[in-house]
Amino acid sequence: MTDRNRRLPAAALDGLLLDTNPYLSCDDCFDQLDTYVEQLLADPSHVDLPMQVHLKACGACAEEAEALMDLLTS
Ligand SMILES: [Zn+2]
Repeated sequence: MTDRNRRLPAAALDGLLLDTNPYLSCDDCFDQLDTYVEQLLADPSHVDLPMQVHLKACGACAEEAEALMDLLTS
């Protein structure tokens, strides 16, 4: 799966960003994903709220995080 389908309506996304406290955009999430996954593997109790909120709500990034996790743990 290479199609990330990231062209969401900007207005809808902006409303979401304003309403939810530390919510990242997919770009921000992808930027921090490596670091986040590495920290999580080093310390399973690691907490990064904005990342966790985003990954919970965003299937595309969650999938990416899982793939990265697999890559780093295999
Ligand atoms: Zn995302």
